[in-house]
Amino acid sequence: MRIGIDDTDSPAGMCTTYLGAVLIHRLTKAGIQVTGQSLIRLNPNVIYKTRGNAAICIDAEGDAEQAFRIASACIEELAEFDEEKTNPGLVVAENPFPVSFYRQAVTGFCTINEAEAVCHAAGARTRKWKNGRGIIGATAAVAAKQEDMTWELLAYRNPEDKGERMVERESLFRAEKETFPHTWDTVDIENDCIVCFPHTPDPVIFGIRGESPEWVIKAREYVRSQKPVMEVIYHTNQGTDAHLLEGEIGSLAEGCSYRLRGVVADIPETGRGGHVSFHLRDMSEEVRCMAYEPTKGFRDVIRGLAPGDGITICGSYKNGSINLEKIRIITCPEIVRQRPPLCPSCGKRMKSDGVNKGWKCRRCKTRAEEPEIIHESRTVSPGWYEVPPSARRHLVKPLCRGTPTE
Ligand code: ATP
Repeated sequence: MRIGIDDTDSPAGMCTTYLGAVLIHRLTKAGIQVTGQSLIRLNPNVIYKTRGNAAICIDAEGDAEQAFRIASACIEELAEFDEEKTNPGLVVAENPFPVSFYRQAVTGFCTINEAEAVCHAAGARTRKWKNGRGIIGATAAVAAKQEDMTWELLAYRNPEDKGERMVERESLFRAEKETFPHTWDTVDIENDCIVCFPHTPDPVIFGIRGESPEWVIKAREYVRSQKPVMEVIYHTNQGTDAHLLEGEIGSLAEGCSYRLRGVVADIPETGRGGHVSFHLRDMSEEVRCMAYEPTKGFRDVIRGLAPGDGITICGSYKNGSINLEKIRIITCPEIVRQRPPLCPSCGKRMKSDGVNKGWKCRRCKTRAEEPEIIHESRTVSPGWYEVPPSARRHLVKPLCRGTPTE
């Protein structure tokens, strides 16, 4: 059977992954054999999310009715019911769900009715609390299936402990140094900051993301921190680009994420707050692309673009703009500009000679036929570029895992 849970936390505490870890222990204690656990991220642009739009799926063998009772009790005990936006959902399924529902939930939007129809068709047990929106994520987590998956080891503290986390900074940098690129996003070396723990009052002490259980365990062994009350390794769709759709500029849907190809239409501009923007053109349509201030050095790559450069971009379409996650510069030819030549006689810059074509020196009347040609070297070169780990969204595939296929 598969057990899906979602929407149990609030900005003030709890985390659905923690509740999942507790549930794994309780199921095991009750004689239900847990065979796997997944942390499934869904559309990052869903407005109902608390933080990273995560849902949990536990694979288990045993009595489904008993598992349903244990999971219900666990949610009732631990979910943050006082928070208006917390609307838990539970699904226990003994038959497979269509993977299409997961694809819809990770790339687009779903309704509660659609989720319930999927559960009903497969004869699954379901339960909703409050407005029950969590049934969407719970159903999607049960339906989730894709070839490319990664792993995350999560270490938890007691949920009542809402103070500062005790993790030795140097040990995290060491973990990254010893295990990158097999693990990633533990720290952001370029910006000299820690990425692998939240600054919110939830039970996560730290999380290590990587290519296999072995690699996340190896990295974890370097980490020195307060003593976790629990640790769990989730199989996850994080770092896989599962949210990206192939798109065309003329038909982008609000809240969806795309990979788009086109040419740079104008000179990138740095606006208020340090956000950098330019327009991408494909055939006759244009869309604004944004590299926000938190993307730090990535903005220098964007500033280095020039009209006519051929690029591929990945990012979410929100409020009429693409929020850039990564970019491939395909062509960025040398910029060749012309300007009036210097007068060979007096050294003064010449002026256009109007109808006679060519240039003329106003001072000594010398004429010239050819302009001065300026070759501007570029600050960017072809290749993939990504936002730094500190600005990376959970689902985005880091370049250390390989570049997107085109
Ligand atoms: P955490 O991961 O820390 O538990 P969260 O950021 O995952 O919190 P939730 O509290 O789970 O956020 O809230 C997300 C809500 O949005 C859930 O009710 C979930 O069912 C719903 N949801 C998720 N994906 C979609 C989607 N594609 N369309 C509509 N609703 C969705």
